[in-house]
Amino acid sequence: MRSASLTRYSTRLRHRRFKIEAASVGKAGPHSEARGLLLGHTAPRDEELLSSWVVRLAAQNALKLHTFSQMMWPAVPIWNRDIDNSATDDVLATLALRTGVAPDRVRETTLQSYEGRLFEKHNPRGSTVWLLPLGIYHRTRLRSGTQFCPDCLAYETPYYRKSWRLALSVVCLVHNRPLVDRCACDAPINFHRGDLGDVGAFQAASSMTVCYRCGFDLRKCGGSSFTLPLLCAALETQSRSNEALAKGYIRLADGSTVHSNLFFAGFRQLLQILSHGRLAASLRDSTAKWRRLPAYAPSFNGRISAIEKLPVHDRTVLIAMAGGWLNDWPQTFVKDCKTAGLTATDICRNLTRVPYWLARVVAEHFGQGTYSPSLPEIGAAINYLRTQNIVPTKSAVSQILGRTDVFRKRRLHHLLESEVGLFGDDGSN
Ligand SMILES: [Zn+2]
Ligand SMILES: [Zn+2]
Repeated sequence: MRSASLTRYSTRLRHRRFKIEAASVGKAGPHSEARGLLLGHTAPRDEELLSSWVVRLAAQNALKLHTFSQMMWPAVPIWNRDIDNSATDDVLATLALRTGVAPDRVRETTLQSYEGRLFEKHNPRGSTVWLLPLGIYHRTRLRSGTQFCPDCLAYETPYYRKSWRLALSVVCLVHNRPLVDRCACDAPINFHRGDLGDVGAFQAASSMTVCYRCGFDLRKCGGSSFTLPLLCAALETQSRSNEALAKGYIRLADGSTVHSNLFFAGFRQLLQILSHGRLAASLRDSTAKWRRLPAYAPSFNGRISAIEKLPVHDRTVLIAMAGGWLNDWPQTFVKDCKTAGLTATDICRNLTRVPYWLARVVAEHFGQGTYSPSLPEIGAAINYLRTQNIVPTKSAVSQILGRTDVFRKRRLHHLLESEVGLFGDDGSN
């Protein structure tokens, strides 16, 4: 009985494969209108990552991922690249065409979609702040750049979330648990390699949930364990940053409202000065002490200079610590930096442009001259107000930037003259 149904299933799969492949042979090209919908054209799930969606599409069409990718994008390298980071317009257009999913929704599955909210500019050919690198060698991902929540993967349709590719993501807010970035055997996640060497493996669920190297069930991974105060601090910070990402702005404890990509630029700097540098250990000690967090020694070597290259365990501790500074921003941050002996130069190290919400604190408490918001920052504030349907008056823009004198500088006023003409004049000049 079981054998008969398996035979029927396998015949059905072969039949479906033939139809799909036949549809692609002899047509004008991958972007031809003649190429209609795939037989299986499931839409991306909520928050689904592009590569995860493609793996599920291949499985739904009973094709091995390699065959499916060749059929969809002949001669286009897909899996020896970070497709989530570098998918071209043509690759995305083909997906939209063959799945019937709106192009904007397709683009939403890429990491590029964070541009303007998490970072100012996305770099499809190289590294971008906050995006975890995969360290691709041929088609294998050597770095732990794909994280997951074991409990989320245990749902009926397992898939990978876009936010799991962010250095910012360290805990799952649905299950209140730490994310995991490696199998118990220490292998990084390579869910796209799940069907390699197994001719009958068309089940996306197994690709998503089984370690490609040792076969361990990833849903049973325990991940790092943290003390309750640290886990709570990480969850609180995660919640705050997810909200900023969703809304496009964040309201800080000092009353200023900050555009999200400017907030994240400064928040990343807080993680950078906590993770490495000549006074990083002192800064970690001083912040761990008052918050009753356990003393923390990083597991990474001193050569790592970007938080995106740190394992999730380390990022969780750092994010919990830096997140605590936001609770009464900037009082405790200033106190901890002074206790650890940091100067303005240490705090702003390697930043070509210091976001105003951080620069203001440095100027006020560490004596680094005076601070004026840059034109792009003023522009971002104006854009933010418009998205909120608020008239960008001078006082409204100043409030967003956390200052009362944004427009006092003659040069700024002059440069913004045409833009200022659009403002309602509330007499605050
Ligand atoms: Zn979860
Ligand atoms: Zn494994």
